[in-house]
Amino acid sequence: MIYLRPHHILCIQQFKGYGYNNIFVENMFNILNRLNEEQIIIKEDFDDICKKCPNLVNDVCISDGEIDLLDNKVLNLLNIEINKPIYFNDLKLYLSENLTEEIFYNICNSCSWYKKGFCNFKNFKF
Ligand code: SF4
Repeated sequence: MIYLRPHHILCIQQFKGYGYNNIFVENMFNILNRLNEEQIIIKEDFDDICKKCPNLVNDVCISDGEIDLLDNKVLNLLNIEINKPIYFNDLKLYLSENLTEEIFYNICNSCSWYKKGFCNFKNFKF
């Protein structure tokens, strides 16, 4: 089972091998490699990606306000269900039916990775 917080369902599809450090990047590749084999559970606090992030200190995200905002936007704009196992292909299908370029912009425009140009709606492979 792979645990992801809401906004990370977008991040995993935008990932291009860049991250905070090597441990973070290695963990991202590990999760990506398991996406088509294991189910995903969306949870509301730190997840399998956060576990290897240098911003997680004593199980608390030190940029929590900003991260919570991103999670809330995904929950509100995409109506993602919490704590319900889902296969990645079904999640991608759901996103293809509900995620528009405008919604993506509204969720991601405040994120530093978006501002640096790493993330783009055209990168999604639904
Ligand atoms: S802009 Fe930020 S929140 Fe949005 S997909 Fe990229 S890294 Fe994730």
